Amino acid sequence: MSEKPGGDILIAEIFGPTIQGEGALIGLPTVFVRTGGCDYRCSWCDSLHAVSSAYRKDWVPMSSKAVWQKIRELSHGVPLTISLSGGNPAIQPFAQLIEQGHLEGYRFALETQGSIAKDWFKDLDTLVLSPKPPSSKMQSDWNAFDACLEAAGTNPDIVLKIVVFDERDYTYARHVASRYPQLPVYLQPGNHTPPPPGNDQAAIDVTGLNTRLDWLVAKVTSDQWFEARVLPQLHVMLWGNKRGV
Ligand code: SF4
Repeated sequence: MSEKPGGDILIAEIFGPTIQGEGALIGLPTVFVRTGGCDYRCSWCDSLHAVSSAYRKDWVPMSSKAVWQKIRELSHGVPLTISLSGGNPAIQPFAQLIEQGHLEGYRFALETQGSIAKDWFKDLDTLVLSPKPPSSKMQSDWNAFDACLEAAGTNPDIVLKIVVFDERDYTYARHVASRYPQLPVYLQPGNHTPPPPGNDQAAIDVTGLNTRLDWLVAKVTSDQWFEARVLPQLHVMLWGNKRGV
């Protein structure tokens, strides 16, 4: 899908530098650009403040130039990785921001469920496709997903990241991995105590998360699924449900 390159980006929050807490770029210093709005409503969404229309009043339309200025200010002009997340950031016009950032040596990773394809996917450094398993109560549209892969082409590194809560999700993850054997796959236990949008101090169930991580490792190893990588959500371990870290 092409779009007007200079349109405003609907921003829920911009923060960092911090570290990427999950997936292929885990541990990497990152500035996060979280956009507002999502075409999904996952049952366990941990970013409702960037999804629910109740929080729309808090989202700010910003020009690419203004977003870029904020990123430069946060990173003191030192190039690093910028994570475009949401919500579904694929809704937003990012072509201009990516072009500007690349001129100054920054790198861009986009995280999306793979429901909306954009021309500018090909300009990314990393595309994280995170299709949602049955526990989300969402339905994957594989035609849309394939369109995302096609839009990205061969330039970005493309990886799968799948959240697993239970047996059905695990079966789904195996199905997705077999459908796209060319893509590295990262699995992570989902946070089953996501924050209510207005309270990022809400407690998380660390013991429960560790139990499911343990279960997931046992599943992968006993099934001899040796291509999969299993990771926790590092930011949840460090900071619980806290936002802006
Ligand atoms: S796709 Fe992501 S941001 Fe959108 S509702 Fe699902 S978990 Fe939340």
